[in-house]
Amino acid sequence: MLRKFVDRLRSREPATPPKSDPPPSSDPPAQANRSGQRQPLAAGQQSDAAPGTRRRRRRRRKPDGATSEVRNTEANPQVAPAQERAPRPPAPRTEAPRTPQRQRPVRPPAPEAPAAQVFTGTGFFGDIEVSAAVAHALSEMGYTQPTPIQALVTRPMIEGRDVVGQAQTGTGKTAGFGVPIVNIVDGDKLSVQALVLVPTRELAQQVSDEIARIAKYSHIEVVAVYGGAPLGSQVRALERGAQIVVGTPGRILDHLGRGTLNLGGVRVLVLDEADQMLDIGFLPDIRRILRLTPRDRLTAMFSATVPAPIKRLAHSYLHDPEWLLAGEETRPVNEVEQVCYEVANQDKPEALAEVIQTHSGEQSLIFCRTQIAVDRVVRILRRKGHSIEGIHGGMPQGERNAVMGRFRSGEAKLLVSTNLTARGIDVPTVENVINYDIPESVEEYVHRIGRTARMGRPGTAITFLSEWDIEFYDAIESHIGADQIERRALALYRRG
Ligand code: AMP
Repeated sequence: MLRKFVDRLRSREPATPPKSDPPPSSDPPAQANRSGQRQPLAAGQQSDAAPGTRRRRRRRRKPDGATSEVRNTEANPQVAPAQERAPRPPAPRTEAPRTPQRQRPVRPPAPEAPAAQVFTGTGFFGDIEVSAAVAHALSEMGYTQPTPIQALVTRPMIEGRDVVGQAQTGTGKTAGFGVPIVNIVDGDKLSVQALVLVPTRELAQQVSDEIARIAKYSHIEVVAVYGGAPLGSQVRALERGAQIVVGTPGRILDHLGRGTLNLGGVRVLVLDEADQMLDIGFLPDIRRILRLTPRDRLTAMFSATVPAPIKRLAHSYLHDPEWLLAGEETRPVNEVEQVCYEVANQDKPEALAEVIQTHSGEQSLIFCRTQIAVDRVVRILRRKGHSIEGIHGGMPQGERNAVMGRFRSGEAKLLVSTNLTARGIDVPTVENVINYDIPESVEEYVHRIGRTARMGRPGTAITFLSEWDIEFYDAIESHIGADQIERRALALYRRG
């Protein structure tokens, strides 16, 4: 292993950026709304569809279960490598000074390690043939049968075909491409073989954790690479030979520019939440990254919607892809109960306090339009005695990770957020999504409320309709169907 690593270091290209690359940035450009409906934000108010800031802080310890930058076999010492590795070369002899007077105590023999599990051959995920190591990990995760999107995309990808997948949110898309990736990647090669591009840092961490769980017995390392986190630990994980990289385009370009990431060995490339990446303005970055990967790679693209730019991207960079549709586009999952309350703008904090009492679910995710609004709602609700947290792109990444960790673990029950967490974020115990500020497009509405009712669970979406929101509400209602959203009255107005 060490020899391979040294050879790899020797053969590495000089650490200069490729000629065609402009100086990379680690943060995405500002968001442009696809619908063009958004009003300009007031100075100091930032929207969070585009993640984060350039601030660099020391990263806090990850919450339990976060697996990036950790070799899977290290995390699970009883698991033996599934495949053989090159023998370790003998350690060089060093002339250590001796201390003849003192005799070292004799160590008792180490207790025998428990028998290691080795997975060879193949197994099944439903009727899809996968490696035995992947099959074992999936059954341990409780994934006994593929979901509809997995049934559609997993097999073609394993067989090497490019796909464009259009799926409702929360349908198991990550494992849909995670299983083929882990199945294809060779754990014996210490080089990046799979790259997954995602629009936000939170999604990068979530997707990398999910793939690492699938790769638990495959002796494969997964690393999350995103801005706001220290470069050093990412560089070390890449140098150790991580085979799968999940990251945001800005930070990926940053590593490419520094020569700490080489995409020459990429066999699988996935563009997740492609429409959101295009919305944010990542298209030039994505094109640049795609050009640095081998042409014969397998490419998969996942997108909630397929507007013309996504089609063009697919035609330019995918080889005769299969277009796979699982679930109707921009329709909320059926299990979400949708409720609307009319509320004067100034009464929203009081209305929120009431709704938190009346809709007492396991966890609630509350959406505001701006970072300032998030901070304000947290402040007001805390003054009212609620234990509530906030998250937005203006916070240091370490704090963002810590808040997300507390929300994922269930320690935090109420989270106020900008659209930063509106896409793809999977916390299955979220029972209520509260649109404190109304979404400004149907897509935004569908993505936000898709954070609840995950994988068939029940969930409620509550929308506040204020005097400023009629236009947006009408658009949502006419798309979703007036009979789908129940209008209710708040007790605060009944009190008179
Ligand atoms: P995703 O759409 O990838 O965010 O996944 C949504 C949720 O579905 C996550 O909580 C996954 O753990 C869960 N999930 C994904 N695939 C399966 C499966 N085959 N069986 C059961 N749960 C699954």
